[in-house]
Amino acid sequence: MLKNKNQQDKPTYLLNRACEYCGEPIADQAHSSRTHCKYQINDGTIKDCKTAKARENDSEERKYFEKRKSEIKVIDKQIALMFEKKGENVNLQDLEAYDIHLDKSSELSCDKNGQFTCKYYLYSIHFNPHSLTYKIIKND
Ligand SMILES: [Zn+2]
Repeated sequence: MLKNKNQQDKPTYLLNRACEYCGEPIADQAHSSRTHCKYQINDGTIKDCKTAKARENDSEERKYFEKRKSEIKVIDKQIALMFEKKGENVNLQDLEAYDIHLDKSSELSCDKNGQFTCKYYLYSIHFNPHSLTYKIIKND
């Protein structure tokens, strides 16, 4: 009788579901919304794949923002160099020569006159798409 019941409870893995964190198979009998191992404590260690994965995602996000921040600072330094050499009014060739990417600014805004401002760390670049002129501005 007992053996029979155990056999019935035996998990099957026909649906091929696996934990999104550690890849361990998830039994077909588990709830259909389950995407991670069941939270469990084995020999005093906690196995909690859902939290572990969330933490990993957080650090990915942090890494991404760190990378963006250093990218912006590198460009900012290039702007400072260009400013020193060329003054506040520059052209597209200057931007290219100093490897300044307007699409990598931390903030891009457009005022009602159609002038763009690409904001970096210490500097911003104003861009007039009609006259194709660029002006370096020190952020306050
Ligand atoms: Zn897992």
